Amino acid sequence: MVYQQATITDILNKAEQGEDISVIEGVELLAQQDLTLRSAIAQTADRLRQQQVGDTVTYVINRNINFTNICEQHCSFCAFRRDADQPGSFWLDTEQIIAKATEAVKIGATEICMQGGLNPQAKLDGASLPYYLKLVAEIKANFPQLHLHAFSPQEIQFIAREDGISYEQVLSALKDAGLGSMPGTAAEILDDRVRKIICPEKINSAVWLEIISLAHRLGIPTTSTMLSGHVETEQQQIEHLAQLRSLQQTAIALNYPTKITEFIILPFVGQEAPAPLRHRVGRDQPDVSQVLHLTAVARIFLGNWIANHQPSWVKIGLSGAKQALKCGCNDIGGTLMEEHITTMAGAQGGTCMSVETLQEAIAVLARPHQQRNTIYEYL
Ligand code: SF4
Repeated sequence: MVYQQATITDILNKAEQGEDISVIEGVELLAQQDLTLRSAIAQTADRLRQQQVGDTVTYVINRNINFTNICEQHCSFCAFRRDADQPGSFWLDTEQIIAKATEAVKIGATEICMQGGLNPQAKLDGASLPYYLKLVAEIKANFPQLHLHAFSPQEIQFIAREDGISYEQVLSALKDAGLGSMPGTAAEILDDRVRKIICPEKINSAVWLEIISLAHRLGIPTTSTMLSGHVETEQQQIEHLAQLRSLQQTAIALNYPTKITEFIILPFVGQEAPAPLRHRVGRDQPDVSQVLHLTAVARIFLGNWIANHQPSWVKIGLSGAKQALKCGCNDIGGTLMEEHITTMAGAQGGTCMSVETLQEAIAVLARPHQQRNTIYEYL
């Protein structure tokens, strides 16, 4: 125990001096069960957050739009997907999406976040790209001021496959049509042994990393995420963070025009998820204390390279998100207005937050709040 304490203290001192910690050191922190040591880790994360980005807590006024839940894949954590002929399947047309964007603009949204299932019918004229291009182009034509944050690396690979073109051609075409940035979702855990269990049909880790890095080279900023709390080990969680850190280091070293803007932990919500994984995990809702510990370690591991860390209030509730702001997070996310993917999995955090609610949650912590845009510029 004395040895353990000395080790943890050494690792925390190293981090507080501005050094990156190693994978072994990250696993050592994450493995701690002792509450006093966990508290010391959270305090270090909070201090690093303060040094790296200050006390201000940011938020974005945005609207989430999931344009279809029809999906060819069958991820074992997903309660959102439907077959086209299944009850509850939907595929929004452009008019419906423009109507939703109009509502968003009325409440002052600066961002539309758009992701959907991999719908093999998303084709026009025999190719899928015009559908996606049309979505982007029509939103931008109606609301040029809106930032369009859309399409995960998995969706980019799907479009490229359907159209028989390269990832670079898909990304360039979407960027030219008005895509502003990409969510770094579909990362789940960047370990192909885990992916075989939770998302065997998805792109592998190497393709996810390739598409995100390509986006950075082409001038499309991305976020980064981790789906935590299912079958992965602590070692795999830290190796996931190490790959994100390395990706960011590459973007900086090669002087790419854009890079990762933020890191978000997305804890697994099992309540309505397919039974095999739910039973294997044995938990319906995230273990918030474990999420907070991971949040703190992620700040310590990544903070020198990815400054902005955001909790998911949809998954751990606003109370969990407020606690995360004391464990290394500096952003509380967006208003969303609607959310389907996690809510259909049984998440209880809600689907919409008013600006006032977010501001009040931040004010309780006696920290200033600040509206930002998608790429973290203050508004
Ligand atoms: S997580 Fe995405 S890709 Fe996987 S089944 Fe659900 S909608 Fe499809």
